[in-house]
Amino acid sequence: MEDVIIGIDLGTTHSAVGVVESGFPILLANEEGRRVIPSAVWYGDGRVEVGEKALRRRGVDPVVTSVKRLIGRRPDEVGDSPLPIEDRGGVRVLGRTPEEVSAEILRELRRIAGWRLEREVGKAVITVPAYFNDAQRSATKRAGEMAGLEVVRILNEPTAAALAYGLDKLGERSRVAVYDLGGGTFDLSVLEMCDGVFQVLSTRGDTRLGGDDLDAALAAWCAEEAGVGEIDLRMLQEAERVKRVLSEDERAVFRVPFFEDGRNLEVEVTRERFEALVAPFLERSVACCRQAMHDAQVGLDALDAVVLVGGSTRIPAVRRAVAEFFGREPDLSQHPDEAIALGAAIQAGVMSGAVRKMVLLDVTPLSLGIETFGGLMNVLIPRNTTIPTKAGEMFTNAVAGQQSMRIRVLQGEREMARDNWQLGEFEVPFETAEKGRARVGVQFRIDENGILEVLARDTATGRDTVLEIRDAAVDVDDSKVEEMVSESVEFAFEDMAERVFTEARLKAEELLPAVESVLSQGGDLVPEDEVTAIRGARDAVSEAMDSKDANRLKSAVEALDKATEAVAARMVERAMEEALSRRLGE
Ligand code: ADP
Ligand code: MG
Repeated sequence: MEDVIIGIDLGTTHSAVGVVESGFPILLANEEGRRVIPSAVWYGDGRVEVGEKALRRRGVDPVVTSVKRLIGRRPDEVGDSPLPIEDRGGVRVLGRTPEEVSAEILRELRRIAGWRLEREVGKAVITVPAYFNDAQRSATKRAGEMAGLEVVRILNEPTAAALAYGLDKLGERSRVAVYDLGGGTFDLSVLEMCDGVFQVLSTRGDTRLGGDDLDAALAAWCAEEAGVGEIDLRMLQEAERVKRVLSEDERAVFRVPFFEDGRNLEVEVTRERFEALVAPFLERSVACCRQAMHDAQVGLDALDAVVLVGGSTRIPAVRRAVAEFFGREPDLSQHPDEAIALGAAIQAGVMSGAVRKMVLLDVTPLSLGIETFGGLMNVLIPRNTTIPTKAGEMFTNAVAGQQSMRIRVLQGEREMARDNWQLGEFEVPFETAEKGRARVGVQFRIDENGILEVLARDTATGRDTVLEIRDAAVDVDDSKVEEMVSESVEFAFEDMAERVFTEARLKAEELLPAVESVLSQGGDLVPEDEVTAIRGARDAVSEAMDSKDANRLKSAVEALDKATEAVAARMVERAMEEALSRRLGE
């Protein structure tokens, strides 16, 4: 069984884990059925709780939240953190490093995955914001290792989102904007697809802008309405609930029971009121969008898609602000707070082979072969062959005394090796032999994961040389396949002529020296009239070689073959007689 790789969105306020199962990316829910858990950690007397359980301790015990803001940071970079920072030779919260706290969240996600999948999970793809620097990325990786995970890839969050929305299908040079408004941070990234992967053209954000700010603004307004002086934790939690309700309904009641002297706190909030409260925050996010588009040097009409990520983009006013700025409706096909984890799962699935096997190609998109004499493409596995598959052929040496053969593995539909793509090459040593006597068997094998193994065997020694080509054989961009196929059609005539010419030339090069040696023997082997005919045919071949005319050379070679037929037969006869008389004489 191959190793499973999980995909993890390690968010500032919420985290999630996913995997590709039966070809589909899914998120794995915990025992309470939650697919997204709070990024909160509580440390008790020797005990640790993560997620909802940790949050329940809040107000009673210290709970670490938003630790992502600190990971990979120097003490002087985190001055205004809301967390109780200790600085003993590095940033610490409750005596732990940010890596250690993040590791607890990752350990919990790994546990959930292991429990859901009923198997050990040891590998993961973890996402980070596009603006994370090297230190923040390595610290995230270290956190994964502390949690017992081999981190096979650190993936940019906007890239993960683009994968989840299936934007990798848009093709080369397509550009997308990813608008991510989460719990505590906002960022906008502009991506461009280059050579099959997304590159970040620009990213702008505000690490102090998110759903938490909206909760605080709403709680503050409600406090004012009710004449309450200070906002407490319960009010913030209630504000968050009301905010969510207002994403669906036009009005909601903000209610905190037994607030003061057993009195209930009750304030009615309309969506309109809430929208007015959040407007300044949305303006700040739009300013970031403008800057990011400017940095990327991409015009709004050059974008192929705009996608929403982050729980806060469920707010209708946010969607309107985005639609208005970009001048188009954003793609709403995914849950915004699950997209990043889903994208991480897809990336993990690609890396473990789980995706390709189930949903991607299971045929060879282009032909595979090797270069042979005269620079020709020799196809071993034609395009559109279903995988797994294997095919082989025997090859020989072109010159006497040769000690090795260069095998160039090619992909493409063109007749000449040079017009195809080279996937790899290697040298096969063999015992020196006369021209055409060495026997090298070449076998191509593509397994169900699309891995191409090229094996070359010197049949004299039985020695094998093997080359493994991981993805290239089956993983080709659709547009490149199209390009290659249409090129092969466009040049079909020229290509065929060149192949015919090369094949005839190789034949002529083999034939001409043999003809010379026969003519020089003269005598009763070749009668005078045949000599004239053979000389004529030979000269015709030489001229045709210079003419570069494929069909002319082909017929000249055929004529020479015909002219020497009788001599060849006599030579065989004579050789047999000699052999026979030698046998009798023994
Ligand atoms: P992060 O990636 O920053 O950890 P998320 O993308 O999970 O966070 O977003 C969390 C934020 O989304 C929280 O502030 C939460 O209140 C907000 N949120 C989630 N669902 C809704 C909703 N239906 N309406 C408004 N806000 C929501
Ligand atoms: Mg997020």
